[in-house]
Amino acid sequence: MSRYDVIIIGAGTWGGSTAWQLAERGHKVLAIDAFTPPHDHGSHAGATRLARQSNSTGPEYVALTQKAFEAWKSIGERTGTEVLVTTGNVFVGAPGSKWFDNTLENLKASPFEHEIFTGEDARARFPRLRIADGELAVWEPNGGVSLVQPSLRAMQQLGREAGVEVRYGEKVLDWSASDSEVVVRTAAGEYRADRLVVTAGAFSNKVLGLDFPTRVERQVLANFRVDPEGPRLPSIYIAAPPGDDSAPSYGCPEPDGTFKFSVVGKGNIIDPDTLSQDVTDADLDRVLSIVRDRIPEIQGDPVSTTVCMWTESEDGHWLLGRHPASDRVVLGAGCNGRGFRYAPVIGSILADLTEGIDHPELSRFDLSRYELERSHT
Ligand SMILES: Cc1cc2nc3c(=O)[nH]c(=O)nc-3n(C[C@H](O)[C@H](O)[C@H](O)COP(=O)(O)OP(=O)(O)OC[C@H]3O[C@@H](n4cnc5c(N)ncnc54)[C@H](O)[C@@H]3O)c2cc1C
Repeated sequence: MSRYDVIIIGAGTWGGSTAWQLAERGHKVLAIDAFTPPHDHGSHAGATRLARQSNSTGPEYVALTQKAFEAWKSIGERTGTEVLVTTGNVFVGAPGSKWFDNTLENLKASPFEHEIFTGEDARARFPRLRIADGELAVWEPNGGVSLVQPSLRAMQQLGREAGVEVRYGEKVLDWSASDSEVVVRTAAGEYRADRLVVTAGAFSNKVLGLDFPTRVERQVLANFRVDPEGPRLPSIYIAAPPGDDSAPSYGCPEPDGTFKFSVVGKGNIIDPDTLSQDVTDADLDRVLSIVRDRIPEIQGDPVSTTVCMWTESEDGHWLLGRHPASDRVVLGAGCNGRGFRYAPVIGSILADLTEGIDHPELSRFDLSRYELERSHT
């Protein structure tokens, strides 16, 4: 078996990005995935992801957002692929709502273009939405929608052109790291490299042999018919009312002309190996009540649904760093519900870490915030 500079376990959103960027930097890369990405068994299931510029989480995301939007533009141009559609993004909420206030405050302090509408102006500007008295609608003209499959395929294309080798349909069963190398085992064989990157999404804890305080949450996306003649709906976030700390509900137009809508399933903690694809009435109750209230033209049942899962860390920030048991192993985990639009930047950070380049300015994402068992050697 040939020997590699870097092996990547998990060639989905983050792994595909990391593999391509390491190969372009001249490394011999092998990317292994249990399935053939894009697929419906992990965190990138479905056709779209919202790509807004605002964030509710902190000012350190501003520079990352700028880089990510530039990177997607470059990926689109280099591959001749439409990866991000600019639909604009609107978020709606009442002052006093924690998520809404944080998002607006961060946006005001950022360089990102936005406009604030209130009362009748808001209703006139967004006639397809129900905006309650006292709520504001904040418009981000440069927000949009990431197209999942074209995005993953574009990064794979760049990876292929730079020499990434892939083994799809090979689940990694085990790996080990010594002072001189890493060894990765699948049912098909054993692979050796100088370095390892683990980007196994919801399966990261299992693959890493670590017990990060993260939770894997099952999420359900529902697609609805909307008026095909109406003005294009933007991507939308609806904040929970003041006093209710629930995450916002969100939706966006999809390439097939439907409108996707979802309510963040915070309590739906699962073992990723037992993800149920069966969508029940209970899964859809809140989605239906919010979407029918907020987008009045939607009163029917969904025309399709998708089940997906993401991983939330305790503090809501990604986990990007080196394995506590071996400097040869870099990991990217805790993708949460905003990891898609940042994928090119995260890939670049993980490639840097693999090359020994640290990012002290990104300490918020460092693993040192957790005390972890030094296992897996
Ligand atoms: C419902 C939902 C809505 C979302 N909405 C948004 C949004 O609006 N905006 C946004 O920016 N982000 C959003 N996200 C988040 C975004 O989709 C994820 O952050 C991103 O896809 C995470 O990528 P990942 O590489 O961590 O995981 P994945 O893309 O799932 O990749 C992990 C890969 O590892 C492989 N793997 C796992 N175990 C093994 C093993 N043992 N051996 C080999 N391979 C293995 C898997 O097969 C998989 O391909 C959403 C996520 C979900 C679930």
